[in-house]
Amino acid sequence: MASSSSRETRAHLILLTILITSILYTLQKTTLLQTLTIGHAEVTIKRSAPDLPLRFASNGAFKILQVADMHFGNGDLTRCKDVAASEFEFCSDLNTTRFVRRLIEVENPDFVAFTGDNIFGASSADAAESLVRAFKPVMESKIPWAAVLGNHDQESTMNRRELMHFISLMDYSVSQINPSSDSLSNAGSDNVIKNIDGFGNYNLRVYGAPGSDLANTSILNLFFLDSGDRATVGGIRTYDWIKESQLHWLRSITTDGSQANERGIDPDPALTFFHIPVLEVRDLWFKEFVGQFQEGVACSIVNSGVLDTLVSRGDVKAVFMGHDHNNDFCGQISGIWFCYGGGSGYHGYGKAGWQRRARVIVAELEKGKRAWMRVQRIKTWKRIDDEKLSKFDEQILWHHSS
Ligand SMILES: [Zn+2]
Repeated sequence: MASSSSRETRAHLILLTILITSILYTLQKTTLLQTLTIGHAEVTIKRSAPDLPLRFASNGAFKILQVADMHFGNGDLTRCKDVAASEFEFCSDLNTTRFVRRLIEVENPDFVAFTGDNIFGASSADAAESLVRAFKPVMESKIPWAAVLGNHDQESTMNRRELMHFISLMDYSVSQINPSSDSLSNAGSDNVIKNIDGFGNYNLRVYGAPGSDLANTSILNLFFLDSGDRATVGGIRTYDWIKESQLHWLRSITTDGSQANERGIDPDPALTFFHIPVLEVRDLWFKEFVGQFQEGVACSIVNSGVLDTLVSRGDVKAVFMGHDHNNDFCGQISGIWFCYGGGSGYHGYGKAGWQRRARVIVAELEKGKRAWMRVQRIKTWKRIDDEKLSKFDEQILWHHSS
């Protein structure tokens, strides 16, 4: 009897050991699966996702920090361009990191939008590693963020599809590679598109304030478009442009407030983000603008009708672009504001003595009797990388007309 019971105990012990070992193995395997080594960077894929959907804060505002042209390379080894001689010796990509980190600290935005040339491919030994380093401050902040590509991101070890795929998987990123095939096939029954040009075309919806009647309704739309890199047209080298397939998709997007137009009410506003400006931005030289217009608008010679498409939607109030680092102005064309972010990256070209900068965009809600209502106005300002992160050029871009 005694020996049979001890055999039983031993058998139980063995079973228990096997069970514990397999639990530990599974646990370890799950942890391992989340970590991926790309180049020298140990990348944790989507360890943390932001709270979704995006929504207005309980203070009735949704604040976006636009960071254009970080031009990140290899970190402390990558030197700064166009800074004062006295700053050059100790200036690297880490200055860009420090600037982005301080911007996030001072503004405490609800969302960060990166408008391309996030990394400068030609100076990056490993695209994944540069991306991880470039987006480190925003990932550490745990604030939801999204990015589009510029014309330089793909010049390293990843193509544009791989870059957007990787970016979409990073911590707290809400970037998408492209709209889902469902939304593409719904993009017009007469002219179904199966494919869309580029990578990084997507729509993010921002919902009403918590506890308000609009908490389950999107009241602000954010459109992201891939403006490509370079192209040759009729033997002429030029920049790429937003293609008809992308515009077709843009025209097809219906929003929660789409019926508003029919009711004769202002539709809920939308904001658009892409890297390379459209041709019409050149005309602003002859018009009024807020900010600095210090270099020629480097855009495509092809006009694919982006402005017309944005105007025809009726809800797009402003476009935020990057690409021309020494321009930071906002100007209005056909009722839509076109605003540059201004260069934020120290490895990107710039102008010595003209500080790196970034833009802030705030949508504010109307205060109802009991709770927050729809978007009432949209404001913007910029900050430069000086001691106080000085704020300037504040302006109202849109005000709800009732
Ligand atoms: Zn750039």
